[in-house]
Amino acid sequence: MPSGKGILFGKASLFLLAAFILFQIEQAVAPTLSKSEAVSEKNPPPAEKPVEKPPEVSAESAEKATVIAEFASAAAQNLQLKTNVGWAFGGKSQQGWQIYEPLIRETIKAETDAGSAEFAAALSERQKSLGLSPSGILDESTFRLFISNWQLRRLKQRTPAAAEELAAGAPTDFYDPGRAPELRQIEHETYAAYKKMVVAAAADKSLNLKTNSDGTLASGERFLKIVSSYRSKDYQNQLRAASPNSGRAALAVNFSPHFTGRALDVYVGGEPVSTEDQNRLAQVNTPVYKWLVKNAAQFGFRPYFYEPWHWEYVGVN
Ligand SMILES: [Zn+2]
Repeated sequence: MPSGKGILFGKASLFLLAAFILFQIEQAVAPTLSKSEAVSEKNPPPAEKPVEKPPEVSAESAEKATVIAEFASAAAQNLQLKTNVGWAFGGKSQQGWQIYEPLIRETIKAETDAGSAEFAAALSERQKSLGLSPSGILDESTFRLFISNWQLRRLKQRTPAAAEELAAGAPTDFYDPGRAPELRQIEHETYAAYKKMVVAAAADKSLNLKTNSDGTLASGERFLKIVSSYRSKDYQNQLRAASPNSGRAALAVNFSPHFTGRALDVYVGGEPVSTEDQNRLAQVNTPVYKWLVKNAAQFGFRPYFYEPWHWEYVGVN
């Protein structure tokens, strides 16, 4: 048991270390930023008061530096675990969670990458609210809980779409515009939500998507085009027969969300629907995938964590 004095001394030295780190950072940054550069358009300074830096370290920055000191070790462990931790899914052994880093960051609302102390601090908060030990370390048990929570948010519907719920989407909305009309069927609400979502993505200039004058995706753009939508049970069986080694995770035997017409595979880069790790790692690092992770929910779409291209329409609640 540490003495009370020891704890007090530990806290005080942590704070001093934090203040020292901050002082160093500010010294390093100060000469490179002029006042006008530091003020962004979004946050103009108050008109009357002249902006003046307080002479001491602000409470907020001191807190930030304390977080860095407190979670530095967890951050270092996360950097290892993201490529090393072993787990199993879909009858296959898996390594690391780096493919799921964008989803994890969205889940814990971390602004910075998985090797940062801020990430570990945000994770620690989430662990606390989930009743886990708030270590800030993304170990196997924490990751498993994240997976089950993601899975719980998916489409609950298990009934195949009736013919009147489906209509063929426009050829130009498809990755392969030559796809037969029966392979372009989508449930009505899902299609309307998809169209809205794509217009919103196209309007985000940071994604650099090629657009038409009406704001829809140009025919030369591949990102976000639909690779696969409604699939009948017969068609799913044909796909499975054509690639018998794709495994349970890839092509469900008894039920696929694609039977409902509410699941869409959209193009997010790389090989459109290959579960190979390197392919998925490339896909989750595209700006379009990251945009979906942040924005698809407001259009009613939820991800399937294992397949970056697969999104299910559950509606907006
Ligand atoms: Zn799919």
